[in-house]
Amino acid sequence: MDYVTGLRCRECARTYPAEALHVCDFCFGPLEVDYDYERIAAAVEREQIAAGPQTIWRYAPLLPVDDPAPIDLGTGCTPLVRAERLGAELGLRDLWLKNDTVNPTGSFKDRVVSVALTKARQLGFKVAACASTGNLANSLAAHAARAGMVSVVFIPQDLERVKIVTTAVYGGHLVAVEGTYDDVNRLCAELTSERPGWAFVNVNVRTYYAEGSKTLAFEVAEQLGWHAPDHVVVPVASGSQLTKIRKGFGELYRVGLLDEEPHVRVSGAQAAGCSPVATAFATGADAVRPVRPATIAKSLAIGNPADGWYALDAVRASGGAFAAVTDDEILDAIGLLARTEGIFGETAAGVTVASLAKLAAQGVVRPEEKVVAYITGNGLKTVEALPASLGPTATIAPTLQAFDEAVDIDIDIDIDTGADADLDRRA
Ligand SMILES: *Cc1c(COP(=O)(O)O)cnc(C)c1O
Ligand SMILES: [Zn+2]
Repeated sequence: MDYVTGLRCRECARTYPAEALHVCDFCFGPLEVDYDYERIAAAVEREQIAAGPQTIWRYAPLLPVDDPAPIDLGTGCTPLVRAERLGAELGLRDLWLKNDTVNPTGSFKDRVVSVALTKARQLGFKVAACASTGNLANSLAAHAARAGMVSVVFIPQDLERVKIVTTAVYGGHLVAVEGTYDDVNRLCAELTSERPGWAFVNVNVRTYYAEGSKTLAFEVAEQLGWHAPDHVVVPVASGSQLTKIRKGFGELYRVGLLDEEPHVRVSGAQAAGCSPVATAFATGADAVRPVRPATIAKSLAIGNPADGWYALDAVRASGGAFAAVTDDEILDAIGLLARTEGIFGETAAGVTVASLAKLAAQGVVRPEEKVVAYITGNGLKTVEALPASLGPTATIAPTLQAFDEAVDIDIDIDIDTGADADLDRRA
């Protein structure tokens, strides 16, 4: 049994039953899932969560669907790693990375899809559909395959080749549309009323889908010993993830899983080539003006973000900020993250790390804050965005002499063993 009491309009607070509804009939505001937090508070305990599955489903009471056998590929409980070397580069003393590159299909989208399709199946849908900038396509096709549902995925035709192949392999329908993501999304909105039996995870079951992102807050708090961080940096496409991370920390306090009320500053990261929300923040605007995307960060290339205004509001209310970074800065940041921490993120991760660097340089992210940056997608998916110059440092004949002539490795490093290790192993 779940703890959902119904759906509620974010704008006018009218309530609806927990069905496949996403907008208010009265004011067209988006709908939010409402829970009975008192009953959840009485039912949940830290120990019982700790003893739960090593997936997002350990937080089932705070998710909008209860199913003893959810549609799950093993999503969540991804590493939260201390990033001392990246932190030192950026002047941050307590930096952490939430590494969601290791989810089953390589991005945080597995969290939202697992929740959305489990709910869709419960509501009786047999077809799972979505408009996607790539990662959602991968995840939806994989989860539908596992559940034996029919999948129909719509993508902009110019997507990275890897994201196309790693969707098609799961065997569903994959439709490439001549247009931007925003064109694809508009088509899906039209199709939703034409195909009432289809669950479009980011349209008619979006209300449930979005709730899956709260697990990004739940896991971080649990991994920090049931403490919230001071500041989080989150990449923004539709803006949904950012708003739900903030909601997630608040809910943990509300149900008694955090002792202290969290005051998490939330900052947003966008690519300069698609920065409608960051621009609204920078100009102090009240509305998010749509843009036409032009960036290598295709997973974030939503020019007309559905939750843009709510993300803007969440950042302002929490005392955070937005940064927008160029494609060159994104590529540099992918390299910096890989070189300092051994994590290969996709272009969205480059956006996050470059934005973190910018916000740290501006003093928005402060040196002593406990900061968590969300690394949301795997670099193997966007290899084609990387410079062609990435390759071997030398190409040699298979002889010692050729190696000695071509490569001169000077090892002079301090290994953290307590003793000063000064190794010069040159022959
Ligand atoms: C979709 C996506 C995001 C942004 O998610 P929104 O909730 O739409 O803002 C961030 N990172 C990656 C890798 C994504 O695929
Ligand atoms: Zn309303």
